[in-house]
Formats: sequence, structure tokens, C-alpha cells
Amino acid sequence: MTTLSLDYTDVVARYEPVIGLETHVELGTVSKMFCGCSTEFGAAPNTHTCPVCLGLPGALPVANAKAIESIIKIGLALNCSIVEWCRFARKNYFYPDMPKNFQISQYDEPICVEGYLDVDVDGKTYRVGIERVHMEEDTGKNTHVGGATGRIHGADYSLVDFNRAGIPLVEIVTKPVEGTGALAPEVAKAYVTELRDILRTLGVSDVRMEQGSLRCDVNTSLMPVGATEWGTRTETKNVNSLRSVERAVRSEVIRQAEILDAGGRIKQETRHFQETTGETRSGRSKEEATDYRYFPEPDLVPIAPDPAWVAELRAALPELPAARRTRLRAELGFSTDELAKMSNAGVVDVVAATIDAGAPASEARNWWVGYLAQLANAREIEASALPITPSQVARVVALVSSGSLTTALARQVVDAVLETGHEVDAVVAERGLAVVSDSSALTDAADAAIAANPDVAEKVRSGKVAAVGALVGAVMKATKGQADAAAVRGILLERLGVTD
Ligand SMILES: [Zn+2]
Repeated sequence: MTTLSLDYTDVVARYEPVIGLETHVELGTVSKMFCGCSTEFGAAPNTHTCPVCLGLPGALPVANAKAIESIIKIGLALNCSIVEWCRFARKNYFYPDMPKNFQISQYDEPICVEGYLDVDVDGKTYRVGIERVHMEEDTGKNTHVGGATGRIHGADYSLVDFNRAGIPLVEIVTKPVEGTGALAPEVAKAYVTELRDILRTLGVSDVRMEQGSLRCDVNTSLMPVGATEWGTRTETKNVNSLRSVERAVRSEVIRQAEILDAGGRIKQETRHFQETTGETRSGRSKEEATDYRYFPEPDLVPIAPDPAWVAELRAALPELPAARRTRLRAELGFSTDELAKMSNAGVVDVVAATIDAGAPASEARNWWVGYLAQLANAREIEASALPITPSQVARVVALVSSGSLTTALARQVVDAVLETGHEVDAVVAERGLAVVSDSSALTDAADAAIAANPDVAEKVRSGKVAAVGALVGAVMKATKGQADAAAVRGILLERLGVTD
């Protein structure tokens, strides 16, 4: 149930929102950040652990080179400078899901600094400044059992799983974003969407927000329109979908305006986004950096990426989403809106590959954002991860356009390809899925339908041509949907001696 009463449009006419985003990305490396344990998601609790990631005394961490390579790629894609020398730092705090009682992170010496990401909202480009991109490790995961809410309050006991502890985590921190006015929620969402696309394009993370491999904290503050001094900000934690990013900013803007209107002060605190209400609730009061007693991590050597290696990584960056959109718009004739949909579904590359394999652009797009996206959703994977290749999809499209398959049959073929891994033509042959075009077989089926439905046949003969639909349906049923309906209709009318 909503508790906020002010109107958003009214609020942003009087207050200017300033937002900032801190995004955590779990890297898709095979092993953890400082040990050789597997990063696989969903394993039995505490099976991917060792003395290093359990923080046992005397265990020594060694940095994962692949993770360092990934964060440099991320920094380059976000137009950052890559420093020539930096260190890890200990961030000291106690929490039961963190076995060492400190997290290895980076503090005043992050590896990537001073970048930006441009995002488009309503035809206008907003430049989001990137303050830093730094390397750290993930914590484990607590599960509170027995309470109604899943929170520690009211729980009978808590369980901790350290499989996630030590998975490489990259934190991307923006500078405060000003000047977005009423569009602050949309700009926040567009930023996370574009960032997710870049990370996916770089292949450094599976960026699944619902599994927590991409997590977003949203900072929001308000100042009166015309003011230059920022208000006190709150930090909304772990906003787990793109839609929630937008909702979290919007509701926090309204909540803060209600407090300010009443003459109150905003408390600097961590807040939690609630999916059910779309509002935030108070968490703990926000720590200051000094509370963490940061100091350089003595067990790890500094990171000093060779500039020649960085230059190599820069030269090998893939085509990034913004450039790809511009190119595809020009080459394939997709509209901005169509590209946005393809981009959100993560299918831009496979659509382009399907077109390269010979399918018309519109057909390729329809399959990937339509039926294949549905199948992927049902399996909770990305459409591009379905076990069907762009050239197989192009073959299905070709069979439909040549009349060998109807759309319904084509879907059955796709289902069978996914199920068996066989080639499209093999599936069509094995399962007899081709359109029945043998005219004597269709004529026999038409005669049978007429014989079985004499009343309908009589109606058609007496001039009610529309009634033939029932007979077409009977033939389609008899041929298990494998006939071309228009052809069937023609044959039926011919057998009934009626001209259309
Ligand atoms: Zn380990």
C-alpha cells in the first residue's frame, strides 16, 4: 500500500533531483578473485570454499589476472583512465557473511578513474560522469529462517553460505548527475540499461539482475529549483530490476519532498527498496568512510598494468552498443524503438547474425523478440543462450517464406530443434512437419470434410460462402495443421462448385 501522497510532477516543478548510481557487477570468471574456488551459481551451500575465501588464519590471497583484465576492459569501455599503479585496501567491518571480518576492496587508489557514459532519454543525450571503477570481492549470503519476512527480525535461526564469498566484484560509481529534472528516474534506468548492455557486450558478466550478478544502489537528493548546494542524499540498496531503478528514484524524490515541505531534514541513511509497494524503507544510518578503517592490504602486491597491455586491450574492445546501434540503424533500417527492444532483450547480435545468414531483417527481429524470447523467458535464460543458431533460425524463416512451413509448424520445428539439437531440415523430415501440398491428399481431405458436414456444404452451395470456414477448419484438423489454409479454401470451393 502506498503511503506517499504528493504528485511527482508537482514535486519536480519545485525541487531538482540529483542522483548517483553505484553498481556492483559480479564478473563471470571461472574462479574467485583471490583463490581457485569455482564461481558457479546455484551449487550446494559451502561447497565452493577453501581456506582463502573462508578467511582461515595464514591463508594468502593471489589476485585473479582474468578479473583484472575484465575490469580494465570495463574502464576502457566507460571512457576511464586506467591508472599505472594502484593497490587493494582492507575495508574493515563485521558481518556474518564475511568470514575475514574485512573485505578486500580498493579505497583511494581505484584502478579506473574519470570516465563517462552517454545515455539517451526522450531524444536528449545525458552525460553521466564515472568517478571510479574499482575491484573488490563479494560477500557470502545469509538466509534468515523462520520469520515471515525473510529478514533477521523474527527469524528462528540464520544460515550462511560462503559460495559467493570472494567472487570478483566490480563497483562502478558515477559522479552526481545533475540537470535531469523530472527525467531523473528515466535517466537512472537508461544508465543501468546501457551499462548492462556494455558489460554483456564485453562478455565480462552474465549481468542477471534477478540472480544478483548486477546490483544497483541509487543515491538520491533534492535541492530547491535554482539552488546550487546539494541536499542530503539517501542510498537505496540492491534495486534488483531496471524497472525498480526507475521506481526507486521516483518514490524517493516524493518521500524527500514531503519531509522538506514539512520543514524537516533528510537523514543520511541507507534505505531498502520494496518491490511490493514501490517505496523505500529505512535501513541503517549510513557509515562514513572513516568507520571502515581502510588501510592498504598487506597480503597483496600492487597492481601495475603495463600500458602496452592496456593499449592491446583497448584495441581489442568489441563494437560497443551505442556504435552498434548507429550502424544497425543505418544498415538494417531498424527504428530507434525497435533497436531499444532488441537491446533490452539482449538479441541485437543474434538478430544481426540471422540477417547475415540470409533472413530478412523484420523476420529475424520478429523471431528473436517474439517466440524465441518467450521460450527463453520460460527457461529463465537469455534468448541468445537458447540452443539454436542464427543460421538455423534463418533456415526456418526461409521455409516459411517458401510456403513449406506455416508459422505454427515453424514454431513446432523450433521447439524440436531446441529439444533434439538436430538440424532444421532433419527435424522437418523426421517429424513430417512440412506443409501438405500434395493436392490429391488435400482433395481427399476436402471431400471427406464435405461428406461429414452436409449442412455446412449446403449453406456454402446456396451462397453463404463465409460458412466454408468450418470446412477449412475440419481439413486443417485432419491434416494436423500442416496444410496451407488459403489453398484448402480454394479446393473446397472448387469441389462445392462455388466461385468466390
Ligand atoms: Zn576459495
